[in-house]
Amino acid sequence: MFIKVHSIFSFFAKTLYAMPPNRFKNTTIGKETKMKVNNINGTSSNVCTCGSWLDHWKNFSGQSLPSYCPETKCLQKPEVGAHVQKDSSTDSSWYIIPLCKTHNAEKGKSLTVSDSIAFVSANVSKTCGK
Ligand SMILES: [Zn+2]
Ligand SMILES: [Zn+2]
Repeated sequence: MFIKVHSIFSFFAKTLYAMPPNRFKNTTIGKETKMKVNNINGTSSNVCTCGSWLDHWKNFSGQSLPSYCPETKCLQKPEVGAHVQKDSSTDSSWYIIPLCKTHNAEKGKSLTVSDSIAFVSANVSKTCGK
């Protein structure tokens, strides 16, 4: 009898232990590593054989399209492949990342994006134009 009661108690103790403490309720997990990029004006005539820059990103990123725009505070769907440059003095290459329409429309602005997003080269001679 004692053993039975004890095992029920430890079951509840384990359940309580497994529950996250309330103080973590409002903590946003993920997107903790951030990166600054500049949205550059990719001309719509500059299209590769993938069909669209979003398809280009899908073809070469090795990632599936994220549910949210990678901009750190954005909760819209990524719908377009945007041309960006890393905010770096050593790397001025053009990259494609998926962005929502709002952020894609903000040409020439700097954005803070999660760096878990893959940066795909916009240089077709290095990707689909090989
Ligand atoms: Zn392409
Ligand atoms: Zn966005």
